[in-house]
Amino acid sequence: MEEVRVRFAPSPSGEVHIGNARTALFCWLFARNRGGSFILRIEDTDVGRNREAGEVPILEGLAWLGMDWDEGPDRGGPWEPYRQSERLELYRQHGRRLLAEGKGYPCFCSPEELAARRAGAQREGRSSGYDRRCRDLAESERQRLRAEGRPHALRLRAPLEGETVVQDIVRGEVRFLHAELDDFVLVRSDGRPTYNFACVVDDHLMRITHVIRGEEHLSNTPKQLLLYEAFGYEPPRFAHLPMILALDRTKLSKRHGATSLQQYRDLGYLPEALVNYLALLGWSHPEGKEVFDLQEAIAHFSLERISRSPSVYDDRKIEWLNGHYLRSLPAAELARRALPFMRAAGYDPQPPDRLAKLVAAVQDRVKLLGELPDALAYFFRDDFHYDEEGYRKYLARPGAAELLERSREALSSLPEQDFTVENTEAVYRRLAESMGIRAAELIHPTRLALTGRTVGPGLFDIMALLGKEATLARLGRCAAGLRRD
Ligand code: GLU
Repeated sequence: MEEVRVRFAPSPSGEVHIGNARTALFCWLFARNRGGSFILRIEDTDVGRNREAGEVPILEGLAWLGMDWDEGPDRGGPWEPYRQSERLELYRQHGRRLLAEGKGYPCFCSPEELAARRAGAQREGRSSGYDRRCRDLAESERQRLRAEGRPHALRLRAPLEGETVVQDIVRGEVRFLHAELDDFVLVRSDGRPTYNFACVVDDHLMRITHVIRGEEHLSNTPKQLLLYEAFGYEPPRFAHLPMILALDRTKLSKRHGATSLQQYRDLGYLPEALVNYLALLGWSHPEGKEVFDLQEAIAHFSLERISRSPSVYDDRKIEWLNGHYLRSLPAAELARRALPFMRAAGYDPQPPDRLAKLVAAVQDRVKLLGELPDALAYFFRDDFHYDEEGYRKYLARPGAAELLERSREALSSLPEQDFTVENTEAVYRRLAESMGIRAAELIHPTRLALTGRTVGPGLFDIMALLGKEATLARLGRCAAGLRRD
């Protein structure tokens, strides 16, 4: 059986869009499912010099999601180099070959001439593709123009009639009439290859067996097939992934919110939730499962289960999944992942293992790591305001100050090291009983006094986490404030 070789070929634009991450994931899952190779190729002939800035986020993003690659710009491989900007000589050789065999021809039309003729054709309602003016220039004319030093591009001598049929694994047979393709450019006059040309040369030289990419490239595929034919190379198999739409059924874009991996990471999405969600964008688990890890996705992945219809991206679902993964993390691990978010908000948990206890208290109340600093804020600061409605309801009424003072007094009898969930609760139950009121009547005002909020983790968990000193101080301060008002 042939060895499966799949490549992910991003342009290094500095960020990884969710659609590209999905493409990378499907390529990777397919390669891993088939015991094949996953190759990372950087398509950087268009982006100029700033390699680091464009490429590093891609490598980091894939690694963050849990993908690894067998060959790539950072680790080399048998068909290196893996950056197109380092392969220019290979494209030149291939261009010369098509030229020598008459399958390509030099085009001397300048961009201005092309634009003027295109505009004219549009005015007259004719096709605005290249008019093939240089296709049949006499050899003597070509020599003359070359001798003049006229810059020239290389174009494909594409067939004028007939059609190319793409056999796509996802979409089935898709037909393209040659009359609708023009003699597209292969190598620009400055020597840079076009995407279609470099892609075919590289996919062939890198022994790629399956090209898996977004549907926006389907219309490039007949052009690439013409190139394989011109070279006499066997084409790979193609699978085009369905578009990703937003809930409003338009193409997912920046205006719909976070769309790049970096943004997701900064908001506090977990990579395991994100890859799980991405796997569901156009693919489905054979048992209909919605929650699964990468190993399970690898085991079940197949191109046959990719849907033809667009996938709809739903923030609520990814948030729900994130909440699910977040709740399943051990507290120490959650704390480790939360730490950078806490630090960025100016909270530095001391001693470091305190954070694990704090996150455990709110673990089932947050969906994103980025929500933790706010959810835990009152453990780090006491300059909070009291929730207005809660204040009116529980504090701004006769007797509230006294309730807090008596609570404070009762708690003060507990030694510091006995300030536990069980003991503080027992103190409150006894106090409520002795005052002939419900425990809730003590609990609500106390929660406000300690946290400023009306909701949160269990009150006695909060007391134990705050410790005796802070608890008494906050109760005292709140009561004093009420007496003043
Ligand atoms: N550089 C192209 C892109 O990022 C690659 C397309 C392909 O996979 O052929 O869209």
